[in-house]
Parts: sequence; structure tokens; C-alpha cells
Amino acid sequence: MPQRKTRRKQRSPYLFMALAVILLVVGLVIGSRAMNAWNAYTAAAAVTPTPSPTVRPIAVTQAPDLVTFTPPPTATPGPLSSGASGERVTQLQQRLKELGFYQGSVDGQFGSGTKSAVRAFQKQHGLDDDGIAGAKTLAVLYSDQAAAYQPTPTPKVDDTLAGDIPLLVNKWNKLPDDFVPADLVTIRDVAGDLLQYDDKTFQGVREAVDALVRMIQAAKADGITPWKVGGAYRTIKDQQRIFNNRVSRYMQNDSELTRSQAISRTRLTVADPGCSEHHTGLAFDLNVPNTEAFVDTAQYLWLNAHCWDYGFIMRYTDEKEDITGIIGEEWHVRYVGIDHAHKMRELDYCLEEYVEYLKQQLSNN
Ligand SMILES: [Zn+2]
Repeated sequence: MPQRKTRRKQRSPYLFMALAVILLVVGLVIGSRAMNAWNAYTAAAAVTPTPSPTVRPIAVTQAPDLVTFTPPPTATPGPLSSGASGERVTQLQQRLKELGFYQGSVDGQFGSGTKSAVRAFQKQHGLDDDGIAGAKTLAVLYSDQAAAYQPTPTPKVDDTLAGDIPLLVNKWNKLPDDFVPADLVTIRDVAGDLLQYDDKTFQGVREAVDALVRMIQAAKADGITPWKVGGAYRTIKDQQRIFNNRVSRYMQNDSELTRSQAISRTRLTVADPGCSEHHTGLAFDLNVPNTEAFVDTAQYLWLNAHCWDYGFIMRYTDEKEDITGIIGEEWHVRYVGIDHAHKMRELDYCLEEYVEYLKQQLSNN
């Protein structure tokens, strides 16, 4: 037994050292693997947050907001996006449906149909159309600023003077929301003091503005002056804002009025966005400074007799109200080019009739 004891005593330092070496080796292997994994992780982490400029950073921040759980009622309601579900989505769908943006079932599930509806709503209201119902979108959606869905049927046309047929814009021929005419210039940069302006930033399509300048120079040479520009190019967003503000004002002044009633009332005096000829950059409202009725002025008589020779037409007359859908506006001229203008005067056609006539001529040939 003592022998054994001695042998054990002799063996134990080696055993201890061997164990220590093994532990050290194992520790080093695990340690280096962990370092490799950590390095790989940090390298990946350094890359993923900035993948490419085309990826919206919002996609990263949105991830935690996918509503797989219902947030406590005291918390600020987060944005609603694809995959969300529950009472707030139901309310969202109901509201979008009421305004005509959503056709699907009100089931509280934020799917692709709901996303498309949110995007259409955002687009029509000048919001960032990301399809996510965030604070800004929800604020507009549940306010008086929310307008009913308006379809945009006609294709986008940039060159308002292109083609054989003059561009027709009216209640039945609506321009797309993103329509912008090509070659806009500031009228004052071209005409200077020849004209007065209700707004010095008024713009028009260059060719039409040049024709306007030649026309007013001729009037001035005939002793007919002064002239003032009261209206020119207007963006569709401008028109949307004007329209929405009017609807809101009617509803504020009369609490009994429904939204659709307020919209109908607004349409009596304000064109629907996309339906005003002022979006083309080819139409101008002319008047005489400090004069109420343009129709009683020498300027009007001169304009009515000579505008055709400069490529302009008197766009809205009382005689053609049934066809144009607009009451007589003797101050509103529209540029169509000299050939079209002469032909229209000869035929006594308004633009609606003339466009129809040209289409028939073209189909007969
Ligand atoms: Zn006008």
C-alpha cells in the first residue's frame, strides 16, 4: 500500500500537467473558433445595414412594427404595413373602402390588396407612396383632407403640342396625376413689362408664351393696352390642394353636409384635379387691371377678333356651354396653333367638336 501511495504521488503531477495541456489545447481551439465566428458576424453586421442605395432604409426600421402582437393601448400606435392584423387594420380597410380606394373584404388582415389601396391613397394625396400606413398617412386618412378615389384613365403626355389633334382636357378627359407639360417658361422672363401679372411666377409652354407675346404686341400696336395675366399654368397638385381646401371649408361651415355633398358643391366652381385646361401650360386668363367685367372692355373685343391669327381660340363661350361643360369664360384663351385656330373659327367649332371632327377626318383617310 505505501508503494502504491508513493506511485500515485509520483504519477499525479504528470496527470495534472497532461490535463492542463489538454484543457489549454481545447480552450485554444474553442477560443479561435469563437473568434472566427465573431469576426464573421461583425463583418456581416458591418455590411448588412447599408446594402445598396436602392433599398429603402425604412424597410429596416419597419421590421419590428409588423403587428404580430397587439401593442398596449397606452403606446403610440405604430405604422400599419403588410402582415399586420387586428382592429386597427379593420378600421383602415373600412375607411379606405368608404373613400373608394379599397375593394377587398374588411377582414382585418393587411394583405397586398390593402397595401395597393394605401399606395393609391398616398399617391392621390401627395404622400410618399410606400404602402405603409404610418402616422402621416393615417393623419390625412382620418381628416377632412381625405378625398374620394379619382381614377386616372388617360396616358401621361408631356409634349402638350405633339400630334395632329390638339390636346383636349375637360371633365371627361382627365390628365394623369403625374402629368407635367414639357418646355415650361416663366411668362415674365419672355414678356417683361409688356404684361402685368397677378403672379410674377406664372408659367406657360414656351411656344404658347411666344405666341401670347406676339399677340399682345400687336394689340398694343393697335392702341389696345394694358393687359394683365390672371391665370396660367397650374400643377395638378395645386389643383388638388385648391379642391381639397374648398371641400374642407364647405364641411366646416355646414356640419350637416356629407363629404360627397361638399364635393358636388365644390365642383360647381373648381375643376377636378387633372380636368383643368390650365394643367396643359397652353391656356391663359387675360384681363384688364382694375376692371371687373372683361367682356365690356376694348381688350376683349380686340382679342375676340384677332386671337385666331396668333394661334389662340376663345375656349369657353356661352353658346357652347352644353358641349364644353363650362360656362362662358371670355377671358380664357387656349393656344392650339394658327392652322387649327383658323379652321376652328371657320367651322365655328369648340375644341370638343373640333377634336371629334379631326378624328373622323383621320379615320376616313
Ligand atoms: Zn382659365
